[in-house]
Amino acid sequence: MKKLVVITGASSGFGMAMAKKFAKEGYPLLLLARRVEKMEEMNLPNTICRKVDVTDLEGFEGAVREAEEKYGKTDLIVNNAGIMLLGNIETQDPREWKKMLDVNVIGVMNGMKIVMSDMKERKSGTIINFSSIAGVQPFGNHGAYCASKYGVTGLTAVARGEMSPHNVRVLSINPGAVNTELLGHTTDENIIKGYNEWKESVGAINITADDVATTVKFAYELPQAVSLREIIITDTMQDA
Ligand code: NDP
Repeated sequence: MKKLVVITGASSGFGMAMAKKFAKEGYPLLLLARRVEKMEEMNLPNTICRKVDVTDLEGFEGAVREAEEKYGKTDLIVNNAGIMLLGNIETQDPREWKKMLDVNVIGVMNGMKIVMSDMKERKSGTIINFSSIAGVQPFGNHGAYCASKYGVTGLTAVARGEMSPHNVRVLSINPGAVNTELLGHTTDENIIKGYNEWKESVGAINITADDVATTVKFAYELPQAVSLREIIITDTMQDA
């Protein structure tokens, strides 16, 4: 039996694509998101699906410990759950900023905290955090989203330094625009329209969630001694 893989945000987009890909190769899985029925509908083998909000450390940890009882310690956690509420800092509802920072930053830190000491003790394990190309360069109307994703880039780099003496890999993946449910969270219709028009105008519409999942699995399956520290992956036609 392969080792346990934990994926947050597995009810759609990248998380769902990763769940299918890892399951196909026989990895036991713990899938977490709020819409548990979407994960259960995939009907994947050796898979536990739990309704967990990643901002709830206790609930998150409970689900991980339950899966570890059954499948052994977590060898990979993919902190993928995230939301994107685009808006201008001047006009956006501050509750949207807070929500994004809670899910995108605190949710990721919760996932790391839950597995780090065990991985350190075992001198093995991998943490892959989903940042974004918006975590390494600015985009208009992305103020709070960039704040959250630059946050993920920063905290991942800090953890990489702290965990490297213990042979634990800490990677960040920074995708560009890929069609998933992500843009659907944004409440400003004009921003949604502008984002879609830009993607269409440059032709950045061919990369898929499955391509991102393939990349994550590739990075994980490299030997433990090899760390693809930061991966930027975009559609070839994306111009920024
Ligand atoms: P989706 O909206 O398709 O998926 C987001 C996932 O996160 C869903 O499964 C959702 O599940 C889950 N989620 C959201 N909030 C919570 C929460 N509080 N607790 C638990 N799960 C939660 O988007 P993507 O697949 O595109 O996004 C995945 C990651 O990739 C995100 O971190 C995003 O920022 C990042 N990213 C995406 C890009 C893109 O263009 N698609 C580009 C760069 C980065 P549920 O609602 O059921 O809880």
